[in-house]
Amino acid sequence: MTNIVLFGPPGAGKGTQAEVLKEKYQLIHLSTGDMFRYNMKNNTELGALAKTYTEKGHLVPDSVTNEMLKEEVNRQLKSNPKGFLFDGYPRTKDQARVLTAFMTEKGTEVAAMVALEVDDEVLVGRLLERGKSSGRADDANEEVIRERIAEYYRKTDILKEYYQGEDKYYGVNGVGSVEEITERLSAVFDKL
Ligand code: AMP
Repeated sequence: MTNIVLFGPPGAGKGTQAEVLKEKYQLIHLSTGDMFRYNMKNNTELGALAKTYTEKGHLVPDSVTNEMLKEEVNRQLKSNPKGFLFDGYPRTKDQARVLTAFMTEKGTEVAAMVALEVDDEVLVGRLLERGKSSGRADDANEEVIRERIAEYYRKTDILKEYYQGEDKYYGVNGVGSVEEITERLSAVFDKL
């Protein structure tokens, strides 16, 4: 299997690119944000818990997120996938460690972290614009958007070093048209 972490701050374009790349490379797209939104929409217990964090722009606790992710990976493994495209996970060092151990347990590994690099002010603009149509409560409020970006720098940005330490980090310019960015990402994916 080839497992790739698509990385970057909120609004970098991970979800948009994942939709294209999953088809192109036949990978299973796993977005923890989508999983939380699905649970919130369906009023599950997990959804109610997640909402108390997502609405503030904060991360959901690691134990909850890790369990949810593992359960979904186990479910998807039954169909013998070619690999996973992780989107929005891992987001903390604890999550990265759990993912490494979990992949090892499954006889595979994370091949690479491919990061979309975008300036903060561009992110805020994109998220506000997306908020007009996404229906996402956390896109509708500039304060929450800025808190999500702050949370990224507090807890997530450091994961670059984690994967650089394993020689698995690839940075890609995340500004341009969707097609241009897909091309840049594909150039990295093709080598993996
Ligand atoms: P996203 O769609 O990836 O921007 O995620 C939306 C929200 O879901 C985030 O702001 C967090 O509250 C929560 N979330 C998604 N992925 C994670 C994760 N890996 N760890 C903790 N919280 C997460």
